[in-house]
Amino acid sequence: MGQSMPVSAMPVSSVRVTEVERITPRTARVTFTGDALPDVLEDRPDQQMKLCLPREGRSVLKLPEMDADDAHGMRWYEAYLAIPEAERPWTRSFTIRSHDRARGTMTVDFVLHGDTGPAARWGARARPGDVLGMVGPSSLYARPLRSAERMLLAGDETALPAIATLLEALPHGTRALVYAEVADAGEEVALPDAEAEVRWVRRDAGGSLVEAVRDAGAFGGAFGGAVDAAWVAGEASAVRALRRHLVQERGLPKAAVEFSGYWRRSLSQDDAPTSEDLAWAAERAAGSA
Ligand SMILES: Cc1cc2nc3c(=O)[nH]c(=O)nc-3n(C[C@H](O)[C@H](O)[C@H](O)COP(=O)(O)OP(=O)(O)OC[C@H]3O[C@@H](n4cnc5c(N)ncnc54)[C@H](O)[C@@H]3O)c2cc1C
Repeated sequence: MGQSMPVSAMPVSSVRVTEVERITPRTARVTFTGDALPDVLEDRPDQQMKLCLPREGRSVLKLPEMDADDAHGMRWYEAYLAIPEAERPWTRSFTIRSHDRARGTMTVDFVLHGDTGPAARWGARARPGDVLGMVGPSSLYARPLRSAERMLLAGDETALPAIATLLEALPHGTRALVYAEVADAGEEVALPDAEAEVRWVRRDAGGSLVEAVRDAGAFGGAFGGAVDAAWVAGEASAVRALRRHLVQERGLPKAAVEFSGYWRRSLSQDDAPTSEDLAWAAERAAGSA
């Protein structure tokens, strides 16, 4: 704690764990508090930020030092790279699942996908009192939902926190159809009571998000017919396949499909973007392809 936090488009602050709860066998819900949280938290769904995690063997967490307004939201990264590599924290992207600005608290759901990554490793061992850094959230990265009568929200476990906040904030009159891929029935987290139809896709039963959406006919059933817009996030190749399907086979306008690769199979968030990642990032930024 005690990190000074100048006013910035991409705030850097410290957060401290107050509570850890296993909400499913493979999801740890961690509650954080932080002096800066009342100022940096925003009242909108799908707030993304980066957590800074100490490298193994480091008890002191070194955070990027911000000394100027960060109009483009990237000065934090220059400051981050200026930290000597041995002391530089790992940074990993997360979603704020819930927050209470007045009390200065927030919760984050960590998918415990194994011991191969620093974030999942940390999440499995988190204890009250642990301190992490946080970069963001920032409205520079806000992705407002397109208004729609029928909205498809599709993703894997890593996207469930965002999907939950989006369901909580759905405009009146928007009906949501959720496709959520999880390891097994034990990972089906409670989603907010919204005007939503939720279809769980279980990997242990051979299910996959892409196939489930592809095979969903006209998204029939109670939902009744086509969707007007979609929000898709999760493993990058699945997200790309779904976006292609929705645009090319379902006829959704490109601008009506908000998509984001949250993780890449066999690659960590430290690995450089592949040429395919760069092409899709450009496409996302342009809002069309
Ligand atoms: C905007 C955004 C919001 C996100 N929100 C959340 C969130 O709220 N909760 C959350 O848990 N994750 C979230 N993620 C995904 C998370 O950032 C990645 O899963 C990240 O790779 C985890 O870091 P790590 O240190 O555990 O693994 P890394 O060091 O990045 O990767 C190590 C290995 O683990 C594999 N791996 C990474 N994630 C998974 C996974 N989910 N399942 C199986 N294998 C995996 C990689 O392929 C790699 O082989 C979000 C990502 C983005 C971009």
